[in-house]
Amino acid sequence: MRFQTKNVHFQEKLDTKEISKSKPIYQTSAFSFHDLEDMEAFFSGEKSYMYTRMGNPNTDDLGKGVADLEGAEAGAASSSGISAILAGVLAVAKTGDHIIATEDLYGGTYQLLAREIGNFGIEVSFVDFSNRDEVEAKIKHNTVLLYTESITNPLLRVEDLEELVSIGKKHGLKTMVDNTFATPYLIRPHEVGVDLVVHSATKYIGGHSDISAGVITGNKALMKKVKGKISNLGSNLGPFDGWLGCRGLKTLSLRMEKQSSNAKGLAEALRKHEKIKKVYYPEGVSSRGDGAIVTIDLGDDVDVYKFFRQLSWVKVVPTLAGVETSVTHPVGTSHRPVPVELREKLGVTPSLVRISVGIEDVEDIIEAFQSALQ
Ligand SMILES: *Cc1c(COP(=O)(O)O)cnc(C)c1O
Repeated sequence: MRFQTKNVHFQEKLDTKEISKSKPIYQTSAFSFHDLEDMEAFFSGEKSYMYTRMGNPNTDDLGKGVADLEGAEAGAASSSGISAILAGVLAVAKTGDHIIATEDLYGGTYQLLAREIGNFGIEVSFVDFSNRDEVEAKIKHNTVLLYTESITNPLLRVEDLEELVSIGKKHGLKTMVDNTFATPYLIRPHEVGVDLVVHSATKYIGGHSDISAGVITGNKALMKKVKGKISNLGSNLGPFDGWLGCRGLKTLSLRMEKQSSNAKGLAEALRKHEKIKKVYYPEGVSSRGDGAIVTIDLGDDVDVYKFFRQLSWVKVVPTLAGVETSVTHPVGTSHRPVPVELREKLGVTPSLVRISVGIEDVEDIIEAFQSALQ
């Protein structure tokens, strides 16, 4: 099956026992057994489910569905993108280890790595990943992991994943990539050898701004450890949210196709606008498109607060990836936890606006931004 067909039918081949067209929701905290021998069957691996914190068909479907599209052996869903990242990091690094992360990370991930991971006795260095020498210079005897994003938030730098994997292989380090902005529709990091791929399924995987969820994928051995972390940390996803995530995932291809083409149209129109200082929109990301986020820097001549008020039907929302076009102000939201000096170095200015482009008619989207600028 090709990508789009596989995308729509992912759930059907996962279970053959059921006859209902839509997967039932296993809204249960535990599974019951006929007797103690029957319960033993869970521990010997003959039965898949015992207690929802340790696994549930609806949440497992979401993990498996994304794993299939990413080309990974295994996948797991968790309560949020951040909890998926935490589970992945703790599956690779233990007390005394060191990890290296790119400095232009999503603010919440920066906060997790800069403020929390240290409490586990794991040291974190932040480096400019666009500079291979800088990354290699930071590697120490106890370094175990390189962490980055395939397309960075909010400036949309496209990571060179082959280069990342080559550094990892040379020094015996694991690699982990946040693929939230690209989704497997555009980029599949495992194909070039990345070990762990994480998603904030709150975004494009879910796609409808109605769940908070994470997904992580990798090979069987590594994912066994990751699943153990999700269960032990209690960061499992609830069954209904898993079900909603699966429902959203089926239309990933259609949404990404339309949203990417709309984003390209919007970026081209905004590049021609004299009031905008800079338009960030990547090129050559994939043959299917370049992603659905457009970031603009309005510069000092435009009042950002006034601009947000003029955006008629475009919602101001501190998230991204819904089917409706929305805007956010990274300095005031996602990048609030990032130190001012680092924000300035990266180019995350107070006049930066991140646009998550939806599935509306592209002409309406362009007109909404043009009239706000006017
Ligand atoms: C939103 C986001 C996260 C965090 O995900 P949550 O679901 O909010 O925990 C991580 N990485 C990126 C790139 C994001 O956009």
